[in-house]
Amino acid sequence: MAMRVSIMESHGGSKRPSPSRVRVSVRLRPYMEKDEDKTCVRGLDSQSLEIVNWRNQLETMQYQFDAFYGDKATQREIYTGSVYAILPHLLVGQNASVFAYGPTGAGKTHTMLGNPNQPGIIPRAVRDLLQMTRGTNGQPEEENWSYAITMSYVEIYQEKVMDLLEPKNKDLPIREDKDHNILIPGVTQKTINTFSDFDEHFIPASQNRTVACTKLNDRSSRSHAVLLIKVQKNQQVSPFRQLTGKLYLIDLAGSEDNRRTGNQGIRLKESGAINSSLFTLSKVVDALNQGLPRIPYRDSKLTRLLQDSLGGSAHSVMIANIAPEQKYYFDTLTALNFAAKSKQIINKPFSQETTQAPVLPTLKRHRDDVESSAPSR
Ligand code: ADP
Ligand code: MG
Repeated sequence: MAMRVSIMESHGGSKRPSPSRVRVSVRLRPYMEKDEDKTCVRGLDSQSLEIVNWRNQLETMQYQFDAFYGDKATQREIYTGSVYAILPHLLVGQNASVFAYGPTGAGKTHTMLGNPNQPGIIPRAVRDLLQMTRGTNGQPEEENWSYAITMSYVEIYQEKVMDLLEPKNKDLPIREDKDHNILIPGVTQKTINTFSDFDEHFIPASQNRTVACTKLNDRSSRSHAVLLIKVQKNQQVSPFRQLTGKLYLIDLAGSEDNRRTGNQGIRLKESGAINSSLFTLSKVVDALNQGLPRIPYRDSKLTRLLQDSLGGSAHSVMIANIAPEQKYYFDTLTALNFAAKSKQIINKPFSQETTQAPVLPTLKRHRDDVESSAPSR
């Protein structure tokens, strides 16, 4: 990968740039089950982790990513390490996208949204973009240019695009203009001048994500929440140039295997549609990262919407959220296999970071755990 980037750079801007890679970070959330300490995954360094190999307890599987954040990582570390650097590109008319991927319960919403005490990527990025375009004295940093920031917020549910700012219960169309910009004609756009403008629109809209309870998860975990922040830069003097940069901040549907949730009928159909959208996203990311000639953007609503903001000249970051508990084991493996740059099987048993116990009893306990959960696939 590094080689492809350097070749691209050595040609300067003269050649058509090869589509840019999607950077992948993995975030492991803290252990949350009260009873016993039975984690099956742990970090090794700032780029890699290891997980039990359920096929062979004498081995662990080690995965490498662009970045790995362990269970002690703060919201600020994730943001500064994986997101902040893409913001300046928006001010020069380039596009970007940030995704939270992973099974329900692994920390996607915490990572994107967070809470008032631990704000996530969305509030931090919006605050910084406002500051970058307003400067410190409320004026743009650059003379003769002004900025306008707008937001739109949609949900993709059962391959339908629904407006969350002004819900109309209508599937919005996705179009492409002659310059290959992707747009949603008719979607609500709100201007945001201050952070409280943003909050005022965003908070009620988040509550518009309807809830339909099922055994494992609700609608909000089965739909993709897509926040678009558009930064428009207008030259105030001739030739009145206009640059538009788009930032997509996306809380994806849960990546869990819905065949295990006991879903039936309509629920099963929902799951199928969501899975096909996530499936297409994974094909698109794969194709981009392998440098394949054809990228299957048109195969789902989500990827079609992101066509101008994922790959190409856009800057994209995928944050794969994983949970350490045993019950997430197979969903974690799925997420890791999707996200990994490389995987290696190491001939050594998985060992607990924190336990003082001798290796053998620890190993035996894990063998029991994994064997009892493994035959379900
Ligand atoms: P998802 O959106 O992937 O379903 P959530 O973000 O809702 O998952 O996280 C599930 C639960 O775990 C929530 O209660 C959340 O507050 C908590 N959580 C997730 N990640 C962390 C973290 N890094 N630190 C502390 N709590 C977390
Ligand atoms: Mg969530």
